[in-house]
Amino acid sequence: MGKIFIETYGCQMNALDSDLILSRMQAGGYSPTEVREEADVILFNTCSVREHAEERALSNAGLVQRLKKKRPDLVVGIVGCMAQNRQDRLFQQLPHVQLIVGPRHMGAIPRLVDEIRKSGQRRIAVADFDDEFIDGADAMQSRASRAQAYVKAMEGCDLSCTFCIVPTTRGAEVSRPPERIVEEVRRLAAEGTVEITLLGQTVNSYGKGLKPYCDLGGLLRRVSEVDGIRRIRFITSHPSFVRPSLVEAMRDLPKVCKYLHIPVQSGSNRVLKAMRRGYTVERYLEICDTLRAEVEGIEIASDFIVGFPGETAEDFEQTVALMERVRFQNSFVFKYSPRPGTDAASLADDVPEEEKKRRNQVLLDVQERVSLDLNRRRIGRRLEILVEGPSKRDPKRQTGRTDTHQIVNFEAGRDLEGSFATVEITGASALALTGTLT
Ligand code: SAM
Repeated sequence: MGKIFIETYGCQMNALDSDLILSRMQAGGYSPTEVREEADVILFNTCSVREHAEERALSNAGLVQRLKKKRPDLVVGIVGCMAQNRQDRLFQQLPHVQLIVGPRHMGAIPRLVDEIRKSGQRRIAVADFDDEFIDGADAMQSRASRAQAYVKAMEGCDLSCTFCIVPTTRGAEVSRPPERIVEEVRRLAAEGTVEITLLGQTVNSYGKGLKPYCDLGGLLRRVSEVDGIRRIRFITSHPSFVRPSLVEAMRDLPKVCKYLHIPVQSGSNRVLKAMRRGYTVERYLEICDTLRAEVEGIEIASDFIVGFPGETAEDFEQTVALMERVRFQNSFVFKYSPRPGTDAASLADDVPEEEKKRRNQVLLDVQERVSLDLNRRRIGRRLEILVEGPSKRDPKRQTGRTDTHQIVNFEAGRDLEGSFATVEITGASALALTGTLT
């Protein structure tokens, strides 16, 4: 049938969707290529969370116009969140694009590509959110690494955070039945997968609408029972759904990694309210205290947005104080980017860019100091890591992660990809640990 090239932007969910699209295209006879010039089908799987991500995808999709001119049979498509967000306006902006598919219609891509190649006509699938939900149930091949795989637990988001475009692009929440997830995990385990990451926009609200009801704690218990699986992760969680059953699952199930990513976004109650996050700073701190009291050795990670409309210097100082107090293992810090269609887009984007940059840097500096301190405390300990293969920076060394998601680099003299190794930690930076294989 030809070759397919997919360029992916944004979150893990997008990376998984790209794998699933590829798998279905392969089932239809396509083979993947890393070289755009060789491809018969080029897809951009896009992100809309910040303006910058959309701009990059638009500019790269614009660049392939010259390939389309040389080879009129080439099919160029924009899929994912920006496709849903901008819909047929993309056809006007990028006349060489023939395919536009939103996240909840990805299953239709092989059929639509086929139709375009036969008819030369454009195709768009963005209406409604209720069909062709794409999951790994019929994926043909295992993922990039044999040892690790992402599995979709749920799709969409029912929250209404005022800054966020995701509910518009990915639609309402829907959870996959636990049996389907467990079946997929069993198949992956039989193929050699040892680490599973369950994915969802707010993965810990998993279970809505399921009959019989099963929440994330229950799902973790069921996935834990699958032989061959040794580690279970899940991202991203929302503070409002850190329920007792989840805390108990993290505490009691040895396979569930002791690492929780719960984005707080801001340390000011005024800003949290304007963001419509649904919790206060006090409640967030209480959640962190409970987690640390119940789950021995747990590490917590967060996301922050700086420069949200109306964020004052004092609001920001409260965010710095929260970061200092909680001592996250790592944080992702973003400058607020107004997204048309969200509630916050109607507010004045009144924190100047320079000030957003400054606040961004202040948080990164605090986080770096805390991460370095937390990492240094691991020196002298022996930690079990799942090896991911040669380090990109220094291929002579192997790299892997601890249960609590820290990167560990070490020399092994051979490739240990996919296996577990015990490493004695001898050094630490803010970003990674180094050690010797024992
Ligand atoms: N659903 C998760 C939650 O609400 O906790 C996070 C998903 S979001 C795709 C990843 C991160 O991007 C968010 O946690 C937030 O920090 C950031 N983000 C989302 N919208 C943004 C915006 N308009 N400007 C800047 N950062 C944004």
